[in-house]
Amino acid sequence: MKCETNEHLEELVAQVRSLTKHGKVADYIPALGKVNGEDLSIALYDIKKECLYAGDYQKKFTLQSISKVLSLALVLMERGKDYVFEKVGMEPTGDPFNSISKLETSIPSKPLNPMINAGALAVTNMIPGYDLEDKWDKLIIFVQKLASDAEVDYDKEVAQSEYETAHLNRALCYFMKQHGIIEGDIEELMELYTRQCSIEMNCFDLARIGAVFALNGQDPDTGETIIPKDIARICKTFMVTCGMYDASGEFAMKVGIPAKSGVSGGIMAVVPEKYGIGIFGPALDEKGNSIAGLKLLQSLANEYDFSIF
Ligand code: GLN
Repeated sequence: MKCETNEHLEELVAQVRSLTKHGKVADYIPALGKVNGEDLSIALYDIKKECLYAGDYQKKFTLQSISKVLSLALVLMERGKDYVFEKVGMEPTGDPFNSISKLETSIPSKPLNPMINAGALAVTNMIPGYDLEDKWDKLIIFVQKLASDAEVDYDKEVAQSEYETAHLNRALCYFMKQHGIIEGDIEELMELYTRQCSIEMNCFDLARIGAVFALNGQDPDTGETIIPKDIARICKTFMVTCGMYDASGEFAMKVGIPAKSGVSGGIMAVVPEKYGIGIFGPALDEKGNSIAGLKLLQSLANEYDFSIF
């Protein structure tokens, strides 16, 4: 596998880096606020087994909401579609990712999709296992396999920081427990969810995971099926309809590929049958997406005609 820095990507990064000044690092999870807002990196994993990268590509970051796609894939594989979609819907909300408002009014009464916090918490609650550590092992081993990196782990400081401050997510959990959508101990779920969100890697690992989705669930190195095709398709469809929060419509217009962002400033994007893309740019716009990361994707999409539409 050839992996190298790429001049053209370096130019693009240099062009958009100044945008980071117009964004803001997320600090509602206190430990996330410590990063350098001017960081920016991109890796592009060509399924023909070449990986190009640029910027601060060695920097690690936590996946945050990007992890929601991975937990969804795992739970769909372990539990099946009928079980999962009985408890979580398939519709975009147009609301911020942590919104509580539609939980009460939607019919039937369940989170609208697995990419908002309510839906993701319900999904994490479905990870099978006899205790927290057993569930965690299932998830992290799956993520290590997707990244082809057995070293992938979680950032304990970020996990602890979110665990201590996640009052709104706790509220979402209690509401859903009342309505029979989630079950079991909420504190255990919060620990599993905050570890999940704090899984850390660099943009290369993330691009590699994107490449698995680009290949409909196949390992780009071995050809092994890591995620069945129908489940990879479901994940990519959610990425298109809900992956960039309440900016998903505009992103579909301007870039037009499945992508998922996280408040750490990560973005995983997928150009079907071609590339997996991993981006890290922690300065966010007002909707919580990496401000320079979006611009990078838009430039690449224009130049190489990425849009699937
Ligand atoms: N861990 C974060 C939360 O639940 C993830 C949110 C995000 O990345 N949008 O608030």
